[in-house]
Amino acid sequence: MQTREWPRALVTGGAGFVGSHLCERLVDSGTEVVCLDNVVTGSHRNVAHLEHRANFRFVHADATDDTAVSALPGRFDLVLHFACPASPEDYLQLPLETLEVGSTGTRNVLERARRDSARFVLASTSEVYGDPLEHPQREDYWGNVNPIGPRSVYDESKRFAEALVTAHRAVSGTDAAIVRIFNTYGPRMRAGDGRAVPNFISQALRGEPLTVAGDGSQTRSLCYVGDTVDGVLSLARSELHTPTNIGGSDEVTMLELARRVIEATESRSRIRFVERPVDDPAKRRPDTTRARECLGWTPRVSWAEGLRRTVDWFVDGALAA
Ligand code: NAD
Ligand code: UDP
Repeated sequence: MQTREWPRALVTGGAGFVGSHLCERLVDSGTEVVCLDNVVTGSHRNVAHLEHRANFRFVHADATDDTAVSALPGRFDLVLHFACPASPEDYLQLPLETLEVGSTGTRNVLERARRDSARFVLASTSEVYGDPLEHPQREDYWGNVNPIGPRSVYDESKRFAEALVTAHRAVSGTDAAIVRIFNTYGPRMRAGDGRAVPNFISQALRGEPLTVAGDGSQTRSLCYVGDTVDGVLSLARSELHTPTNIGGSDEVTMLELARRVIEATESRSRIRFVERPVDDPAKRRPDTTRARECLGWTPRVSWAEGLRRTVDWFVDGALAA
């Protein structure tokens, strides 16, 4: 595996959950980081601890604003395009914005990467596989997506973004890669962002019932954010251009997940079964052979350890925020 160094990086969506961990890791390794975010689902608080670092700068701007993206001063060696609402509750409330950041936003940020001859990584998602008919999901699976269902604003936005990256590379030679991230959890998820892990943890800590959708038999494979960041940066360092899955191997039903959270938080909360969202995928688990063989990447943080760190973070203030 070839390695590269990045004197300067642009992270769009850098004030979000995953983006803020990427910014932190890059700043710690000495890269000068510009974090561009319109804080529509993120928060300046996520990067406030980086503000005093000489090699970090926060820019409040929208990735869909061509002028803002092209006017960022200097040249970037690495561009990580992570701007996009990611929680189903968020993107269902922001349908047009989600489509816009996947299309116009991706085009603007790709164009900036091309101009700077930067390595570009698109944050894509396991949602491009939709409600998968193949299990586990390999990168060569085309997916099973409802193009007009409620989730399509996210799924199709990311699928379009993948097509845009592929065409840009073919036409302009942009050094672009695509990471398909599976369900990632950890500190800095918003307590109210609607995703299963933050919902369950905040409900358990408040002693409220944990809202399990349907009968809770649907599965997800969870990955701790530190492992996801390792995977993204390994992909960025590599010469790979093909889409690459990054995700956990610990496939779990949502009912089992709720039980694990109750146990880890020593909560007396019960479980309440609620309506299952439309087109909610029944199962999801990545085949990560490509990441393992081409990047030497495998997740390292156990669920017990990752959950402990996440619960500690929620206890320390997220619920009060
Ligand atoms: P998040 O909502 O916490 O972060 C997204 C960030 O993008 C937020 O800070 C938001 O304010 C910003 N943003 C949104 N639209 C923007 C725009 N037009 N201009 C500038 N900034 C904008 O979500 P996250 O979980 O950190 O996800 C980050 C990225 O990773 C997303 O692209 C998401 O699709 C992808 N991803 C995440 C997961 C996961 O499990 N967390 C899984 C698959 C893919
Ligand atoms: N889910 C749940 N209770 C909640 C929130 C989510 O049972 O309070 C379910 C949701 O229906 C889905 C799974 O948990 O089946 C994962 O949902 P999440 O929003 O975390 O991620 P995604 O659907 O994007 O994989």
